[in-house]
Amino acid sequence: MGKKNKQFVEKITAMEDDFAQWYTDVVKQADLVDYGAVRGTMVIKPHGYAIWENIQAELDRKFKETGHSNVYFPLFIPESMLQKEKDHIEGFAPEVAWVTHGGEEELAERICVRPTSEVLFGEYYAKNIHSYRDLPMLYNQWSNVVRWEKTTRPFLRTSEFLWQEGHTCHATADDAQEETARMLEVYKDVAENYLAIPMLSGKKTEKEKFAGAEYTLTIEALMHDGKALQSGTSHYFGTGFAEAFDIRYLDKEGDQQPVHQTSWGLSTRIMGALIMVHGDNRGLVIPPRIAPTQVMIVPVAQHKEGVLDKAYDLRDQLKNLIRVGIDPSDKMPGWKFNEYEMKGIPVRIEMGPKDIEKEQVVLVRRDTGEKEFVGLDKLELRLPELLEEIQQGLYDKALTHRNEKTTTATDMDEFKKILEETPGFIKAMWCGDTECEEKIKEETAATSRCIPFEQETVSDKCVCCGKEAKELVYWAKAY
Ligand SMILES: [Zn+2]
Repeated sequence: MGKKNKQFVEKITAMEDDFAQWYTDVVKQADLVDYGAVRGTMVIKPHGYAIWENIQAELDRKFKETGHSNVYFPLFIPESMLQKEKDHIEGFAPEVAWVTHGGEEELAERICVRPTSEVLFGEYYAKNIHSYRDLPMLYNQWSNVVRWEKTTRPFLRTSEFLWQEGHTCHATADDAQEETARMLEVYKDVAENYLAIPMLSGKKTEKEKFAGAEYTLTIEALMHDGKALQSGTSHYFGTGFAEAFDIRYLDKEGDQQPVHQTSWGLSTRIMGALIMVHGDNRGLVIPPRIAPTQVMIVPVAQHKEGVLDKAYDLRDQLKNLIRVGIDPSDKMPGWKFNEYEMKGIPVRIEMGPKDIEKEQVVLVRRDTGEKEFVGLDKLELRLPELLEEIQQGLYDKALTHRNEKTTTATDMDEFKKILEETPGFIKAMWCGDTECEEKIKEETAATSRCIPFEQETVSDKCVCCGKEAKELVYWAKAY
């Protein structure tokens, strides 16, 4: 084993040996996060935050294109307000963090640190919506939320996380349901076309839907270890919150009507998907479209005259074309190669005295490790093309992996055998009974991920009870 490979073995546990440890190692070695002082919290470091900012920018652009405005609501919710919608409070109560004191003084009423903001928006809408002319009201907020989790892991489950939450009010059920579907599509678009993660989309079962929603739509991704990760959800509320918070508008006929609402959210959890879908034993792999640095220039033998100057010239030549960085530090090139591979930079440019003489550079792909020599005069054409090839390559690879790990089961023996031997998505028919869903979870630890929009019939009978099947469900163990 070469010196270079040995170094990786020491820094990152191989994913085949211990996937959980591999994840923890990558998060740390790729310089994404640090642990916060309170258990379950995290510091998102510059490299991690820059990736999140790029995801944010794409989403934000699409939210605005679809007519939404950004707002900011308070972090605190009075307890009495949280109690107004019964299902909602019951769903969130176990993980709410409470403020009980202001300084030394005990508060007359406990204040909740938002786990999500439906009730604050509800209260606001009740005061600010009067007539059909005020509708639709389409708000989004970028914020942090707090959910007191028992077991935590960076990005995947943290007590505080960053996200966006959309909250909208509509005159009709049709309008609100269209919005629910539209925003799921926005998530799917960004996840697939920017993060290069293929998404399965569908509806959550009654058991798995959001507390207080009529129904929840979801996008689900499959991680490298065969576990699923819920990556974004969009909820249709009907008039539930409107009734609880008295959000009404005067329609054209002069009658009072409740509004129809939606909410939708995508969080820093998606960073976990990014790591676990594309990462490998050398570290992180970032799809070019969301990579903060798409290409890193590493000068070789930079102490030789003219090398650094040429490297800077190249950086200046490329900087309006792509997101390009340069490392002029006096660390060894080998160290730099490892470092930027670990951080997942899509392409590395190596440039030394011999290359300069030949008026060429070496391009190295992070995803496949392939090298190519490209003449300096061809670089402006080749680089954008190469970045797109990598983007598509990552998506194709993830899709192949998901397809290989999607299996059909028709009875519980088969179901359990698949989970043992080739874990991934399991397609199986379901009778629609929550009892069967619970039994499957109890016996296998797999949960229903979604009732896919694209239905098919793989059997006539429920995989669990053998009674008549109602619909196809995707199941998996999940993060
Ligand atoms: Zn059943």
